[in-house]
Amino acid sequence: MDKKIKPVTTLALNKMLIAIALLALTAGIFIGKLTTDASKDLTDNIPQLPIIGDVNKIISIHDFGPKDVEQSNISLEDVIHMAEPFTIDYDILLVGEDGLIAQIKKDNLDDCSLRFSDENGWESITEKHPINSRIKKIKEIVVVAKDNSWDYGLNIINRTENILNITPGQLYLKEPILYPYFDGKSTKTQGERKYDVMLYKQKRLIPIKRLVGLEHESLLMMGSNGIYELIDNKGYLELAGNKINYIDLKKREQIEDIKGIITETPPDSIMDTYYDALYYIENDEDVLIIFLDGFGYHQYEYALSQGFIPFMEGLGRGKMALSVYKPVTNAGFAAMITGQPPNINGVYDRKYKDLKTESIFGAAKKMNKKSILIGGSIKVLNTEIQPVLNIDKNKNGTTDDEIFEAALAGLKERPNLALVHLHSIDDTGHEYGELADETLERIKTIDSYVRELSIKWEGKVIITSDHGMHSTSGGGDHGTFRYEDMVVPYFLFEGEGKK
Ligand SMILES: [Zn+2]
Ligand SMILES: [Zn+2]
Repeated sequence: MDKKIKPVTTLALNKMLIAIALLALTAGIFIGKLTTDASKDLTDNIPQLPIIGDVNKIISIHDFGPKDVEQSNISLEDVIHMAEPFTIDYDILLVGEDGLIAQIKKDNLDDCSLRFSDENGWESITEKHPINSRIKKIKEIVVVAKDNSWDYGLNIINRTENILNITPGQLYLKEPILYPYFDGKSTKTQGERKYDVMLYKQKRLIPIKRLVGLEHESLLMMGSNGIYELIDNKGYLELAGNKINYIDLKKREQIEDIKGIITETPPDSIMDTYYDALYYIENDEDVLIIFLDGFGYHQYEYALSQGFIPFMEGLGRGKMALSVYKPVTNAGFAAMITGQPPNINGVYDRKYKDLKTESIFGAAKKMNKKSILIGGSIKVLNTEIQPVLNIDKNKNGTTDDEIFEAALAGLKERPNLALVHLHSIDDTGHEYGELADETLERIKTIDSYVRELSIKWEGKVIITSDHGMHSTSGGGDHGTFRYEDMVVPYFLFEGEGKK
């Protein structure tokens, strides 16, 4: 009896969609009637009315509506307030089951309330608005931010520009395709016969291509769970609560809460640190990794143009390497030393310290190679070796001079692998801004440290960073998917130590 689903054309899909919608509608009315008859408790019959889009909290009016909600009106303004919109200015979309949407400005919300009745479901009551602002059978309310920042929602960037920011609410207003997404099959047996039903959920999908006319076949996407994945431009985006999900219909893959898409992806990554180091150690060459915290590619280029990095200038053009999301120290550092993105190595934010995969230190240990890790006063990650920590002994406001001295001493012991983590470009960038004179002076000092260490090292030297930094009103910061935070320099060269 089972029929296989054949590939269907778009037209057939649309017909199917209408059929499904009608079916759902009939079933809905039928079930609705049944439960109304069966139960007298009104709240059981009131459907959930969720507030979604650009809000910090997803709430549903059913959760806190008064028991006798049929008689009373609920202030729309109060409800929206409870959901905590994440921007100051926004619009509200009242979305009806029939697809009708009323868009209302935040400043005019005082006029609006919501009411439930068996006849009209959830409906909007407005006194001063035109009559067509009254939507019956509202199925959801979407908050749409009016102002954009690169701090919320999905950012689309390339290696030198932030191209587009779109919030979950704003995505809802883009022209969608409606797609019947197969949800499952159930079967009931009555005597000899089987009765099957295929269930589909109608998804409202926005083709990625539609957003900025992305011509590029290959894109790289990152999400809040640390995913780092190449995708093509045939995928779709979907509003899911207060997040944006990525849907690949061919692979039937869904990636939740995506934060960024980069076009013209740099071919190199900070994760190359692990593979390059491993390659040379396996070939009996020693490796020195100089990790300059918070040194973005645009800072490198600016310092270069201003003549602040004479040593690095002599190395030729640094490669552009992509960091990982979230571009913060723990996640960037973990990606560098494990060669894996955060969703695999387990470190995707500041609060994580434990690695789920082996780091370059563990790999070196297995080869009986000696490693050292020299850093500041706080242990950033738990790795297979104990770091040499340094405090600001001379109280000059930075530990980098102490780290530099400790590194010089450490290198004398001829380890096979050394990682030196210098912090002060990041510290100064936070305080003054990543391109400020103070930060450039810092970069100049660090360049001289890098020179000294490279001159003394016999073997390969890698210079890179965990993440970059962008300007804020109070200085600088990082942690968002924008090119300033995501693209860093990468150098690999021969140290000048005596053979
Ligand atoms: Zn950092
Ligand atoms: Zn920082």
